Amino acid sequence: MDTLVNSLSPTEFHSAVLEWFDQHGRKDLPWQREKTAYNTWISEIMLQQTQVTTVIPYYQRFIDRFPDVHDLADAEIDEVLHLWTGLGYYARARNLHKAAYIVSREFGGDFPDSVEGLEALPGIGRSTAGAILSIATGKRAAILDGNVKRVLARFYAVEGWPGQPSVMSSLWTLAERNTPIERAGDYTQAMMDLGATLCTRGKPSCLLCPLQQECKAFALGLTSKLPTPRPKKTLPVKQTQMLIIRDADEQVLLAQRPPSGIWGGLWSLPEVQDLRDAQAELGFEILKATPLEPLRHTFSHYHLDITPVLVSVKDPTNSVMEGPPTLWYNTRQPQNIGLAAPVKRLLETLGSASHKGATR
Ligand code: SF4
Repeated sequence: MDTLVNSLSPTEFHSAVLEWFDQHGRKDLPWQREKTAYNTWISEIMLQQTQVTTVIPYYQRFIDRFPDVHDLADAEIDEVLHLWTGLGYYARARNLHKAAYIVSREFGGDFPDSVEGLEALPGIGRSTAGAILSIATGKRAAILDGNVKRVLARFYAVEGWPGQPSVMSSLWTLAERNTPIERAGDYTQAMMDLGATLCTRGKPSCLLCPLQQECKAFALGLTSKLPTPRPKKTLPVKQTQMLIIRDADEQVLLAQRPPSGIWGGLWSLPEVQDLRDAQAELGFEILKATPLEPLRHTFSHYHLDITPVLVSVKDPTNSVMEGPPTLWYNTRQPQNIGLAAPVKRLLETLGSASHKGATR
């Protein structure tokens, strides 16, 4: 691999990174206080696609409620999703729950002690497995999360979008090569910290970086070009209408989403593509419909334009909605259930509007 020419040896590389970590690394994050496999696993899953500052309060609430893997395995999925509401990518929470069940029931609460064993659990990929193993047990195991990809792609000037298998494979080779036998956990943390605090996406602080003297991207003025971004594609736009159906006590009707797919297992407002089909699809007789301001929710692969519609229906509590489980939600006394993010925002708006109305 010609990217390795003129670069630091693995020992020089990890020594420079560890020396920097000893002085500047983050050592007091909540999940670093007790580095068990469980704590590391929860934090690593939460940190996927999410900043440390956002994760900290979620992590603390989660660990307070589910201090160990058995507590999580015994919980209702609704409560797990509730504690996840707002973090997004809900498949992560469903997989945590499934994996906790396997570790608790099949392994007596002990996590597998190999990358392969960890990777066999739902929601754990190679990098997360490496992070759990190295941080919780000190075993030599490489990671390649977003931060590490960025540091390595820049340091070795690896071109091409890291989502491409050939680029990914080159980066894994470099990650494996530089991971030390001693202090593997500190090195994992150090690389994540270096990427998060110095080798940042926008403006990397190269002058403070322990790798700067040999960094190819720095030498060639390529830091803003690497890693190569994902090829652009225009996201398609889908439309939906979310119906706000209230009973005489101002409670809002929610329906549970199917277990897989977007917002799987979360509670949402009943949806229709066309109001004219609402009666046939939902079993309600609509008397009046008032569309509200539309809002857009963006997923990784499409935009969803949502039009909330306030609807009056005939005899709401005695009408039968076909299909999924339903519940009446009191917006002034929110329940502990997992809600789809835009639905949560809508219900909060409705709750504060009805509260103002009630206190006026
Ligand atoms: S010198 Fe700059 S671009 Fe290179 S690894 Fe350090 S922070 Fe990243």
